[in-house]
Amino acid sequence: MHEATLAENILNIAFDAAKQNHAEKIFAVGLTLGELAGVEVEALTLSFDVLKKNSPAENATLKINRVPCCATCNKCGKTFTLERYNFFCPECDGVLILQSGRELLVDFVDCE
Ligand SMILES: [Zn+2]
Repeated sequence: MHEATLAENILNIAFDAAKQNHAEKIFAVGLTLGELAGVEVEALTLSFDVLKKNSPAENATLKINRVPCCATCNKCGKTFTLERYNFFCPECDGVLILQSGRELLVDFVDCE
């Protein structure tokens, strides 16, 4: 994952939202980010802070809502929160089906 490209995409979404709302300034951008989305939060925030300079989002903060990785076993039906990606159920060795953790989307754009 290229965090700089991602930061650019997020800013473009924010600029579009601002334009649609006839807003001149962006205060915050909310991002939902799954633990397994493969994004380095520090690198993303850094890129965001560099790219927002001299733009309507100059003073905007990037608010990241991290979503834990949840998976359900296809055999015993139990749901687990995973620290890292695991394909098999720790209890019965059934196959785990990922429910969440790969989210990567802009939730809101706070602008005026
Ligand atoms: Zn199981």
